[in-house]
Amino acid sequence: MKIHEYQAKEVLKKYNVPVQDGIAIKDISEVDNAISQLKQRGINQYVVKSQIHAGGRGKGKLYNPEKRDELILEGGVKFTTTPEKAKEYAQKMFGNILVTHQTGAEGKKVKTLFITEGLDYKKELYLGILLDRSVSKNVIMASTEGGVEIEKVAEETPEKIIKVWIDPSIGLQSYQARKLAFSLGLEGDAFKNFIKFISALYKAYEQTDASLLEINPLVITNDNRVVALDAKMNFDDNALYRQKEIADFKDLDEEDPLEIEASKFNLNYIKLDGNVGCMVNGAGLAMATMDIIKLAGGEPANFLDVGGGANKTTVANGFKIILSDPNVKAILINIFGGIVRCDRVAQGVIDAAKEMHIAVPIVVRLEGTNAKEAADLLNQSGLNFDVAKSLKEAAEKVTAVLK
Ligand code: GDP
Ligand code: MG
Repeated sequence: MKIHEYQAKEVLKKYNVPVQDGIAIKDISEVDNAISQLKQRGINQYVVKSQIHAGGRGKGKLYNPEKRDELILEGGVKFTTTPEKAKEYAQKMFGNILVTHQTGAEGKKVKTLFITEGLDYKKELYLGILLDRSVSKNVIMASTEGGVEIEKVAEETPEKIIKVWIDPSIGLQSYQARKLAFSLGLEGDAFKNFIKFISALYKAYEQTDASLLEINPLVITNDNRVVALDAKMNFDDNALYRQKEIADFKDLDEEDPLEIEASKFNLNYIKLDGNVGCMVNGAGLAMATMDIIKLAGGEPANFLDVGGGANKTTVANGFKIILSDPNVKAILINIFGGIVRCDRVAQGVIDAAKEMHIAVPIVVRLEGTNAKEAADLLNQSGLNFDVAKSLKEAAEKVTAVLK
């Protein structure tokens, strides 16, 4: 799960990671109050920051949602020294579409703004923590090349990224923190503050079950404080049951509407870009199904695991979700009847298809208990099912109907 920058900073603050003071607003009517509150706290430089689940906001562009070629503002993150300008930026961002290199051309609507204290600083660094699955350890990555896309640094000057792997049984060691500080060229107070910073940051990463924590840029202020100017945090979905506060940060506006709909039906659905809708029981079989569709030259439109007991209701809900995606031009149903009997699933498919008047071709592969009876039911249903015997045949059939 992803969260917004302002939420990540709320989390980091609790772990004593230095961040700028700021106020998030969800309606433009709150802007005057937010700015005057910051002013009362002695702040006289402001940064107005669009909150969307995508990076590159600073270099992004804001467009009118109705007239998509009308440019409203260059930059989804703006620094200013006057409250008037801060308000003007807020008005230009709110409700408009921010396009960055990570959002794609369609962009994202700005529905939340984070107005923060603007800092003066002398250095921009990069710091990231994530899981390195290849060695089953968290890795801390640091670079002197902060404020730019780290992917670019990794490609062009990989030697400028320093990596430190953390042994999970002993955690971050002080020599490792020092190694990072040295390699970033820090000295004196900045060095000491960095050691505190990275220890607090690592603790925040571990204790919140984060899967990614990226600070880009991390800045060294003129008075040698170390502050997270930006913050990106992703979390392991499987840990959200024990991270209630973080789970509450979920912003449904940022999620795929079909995925939200599917979760209401307890279906594991992930939208993809292809045109072959897939309905499968079991996550492993669903993955294998997507693989074999690709092998046959097709493109899966989704991952969908309808679970063990594929009855009429789950199948009907599955159809509903799959067909809400306008890209879907054919459906492949692949059910293994282990716990569930194939003839029951077939009846469920027939009943749901009859009720819903499905227009796209449906290829069905049912294997396992009562597979023969299931095939007979489908063939005699009077509906246009294409019954396949093997998974390979099913994938070939479904890609063939699209040609
Ligand atoms: P991103 O573009 O989505 O990564 O958003 P960031 O939060 O990283 O901000 C983009 C850029 O805005 C930063 O790289 C800085 O150059 C600038 N910026 C953000 N906050 C401040 C600030 O407090 N002071 C100054 N001087 N620049 C800032
Ligand atoms: Mg950034």
